Amino acid sequence: MDKLLQDQVAVVTGGASGIGRSICRLFAEEGATVIVADLQAAPREGDDPPIHEVIQDKLGGEARFVECDVTNPEQVADVMDVASELGGVDVLVNNAGVFRQHDFLSMSVEDFDFIMDINVKAAFFMAQSAARQMVEKERGVIINVSSVAGIQGTGGFTTYCASKGAMRLFTYALAQELAPKGIRVNSLHPGLIDTKMTTDDVAIIGAEMGEGFKQMIPMNRFGHPDEMAKAALFLASDMSSYMQGASLIADGGLLRV
Ligand code: NAP
Repeated sequence: MDKLLQDQVAVVTGGASGIGRSICRLFAEEGATVIVADLQAAPREGDDPPIHEVIQDKLGGEARFVECDVTNPEQVADVMDVASELGGVDVLVNNAGVFRQHDFLSMSVEDFDFIMDINVKAAFFMAQSAARQMVEKERGVIINVSSVAGIQGTGGFTTYCASKGAMRLFTYALAQELAPKGIRVNSLHPGLIDTKMTTDDVAIIGAEMGEGFKQMIPMNRFGHPDEMAKAALFLASDMSSYMQGASLIADGGLLRV
């Protein structure tokens, strides 16, 4: 039986670390050639080798690292050029994102722009660049990594919630526009996942705030990046062939909507 992503070219933004890293590995195991588009190849987690090296050297798969700040149009073009050389992008995972906690009354325009530029504007134009290649192929899949914060609002995280909510509605609108061209667009909504984002950028997991959140999760635990990769694989593959403009929530039961 063919692997689920056999001979497909997948671009994963923010693929060097955390959830993106797990997605890169699983997609490669399922036969995809993976383009890791990130600020740097080294993972935030520490001493592990870059994931494109792991895929090539240990898994016998195909992967490329392309240095890319998703807010930089020239570097986005570099990513798409590499995808084009490989036959064109089949799957885009808009995964790169940033998470910060702000006091609404004192936060600055710069704080707002930092989050919105990466989480919304860059994802929007990355999708546009990828879709231009997908239209040529008359097929493709775009996965926007939103969050439970794109569905439920939480004080202290107003900009992040606004950004992830925007990503959700962008997904729904784009799904209608691109469906006639054979392109599926869906969003993935992780709950609290154990990555540097939730241990370091905002100290939730391993801190008092995390214990409070954990009590609200019926499964009484945080998620692992590999569990998000499995959800992303489902959306990327024909296993989800009739899903379009949908939100897939993977949160241990936190939201229950
Ligand atoms: P992470 O461990 O911090 O990984 C994010 C990756 O994105 C890092 O490799 C980071 O690069 C990269 N990145 C940041 N800014 C970038 C930019 N401008 N251009 C290109 N790459 C950039 O975070 P994560 O937890 O895996 O999060 C992945 C996605 O899931 C994000 O969209 C996040 O909002 C979403 N999410 C996460 C959770 C959670 O609980 N962890 C929950 C819901 C949604 P550097 O290493 O160089 O910083």
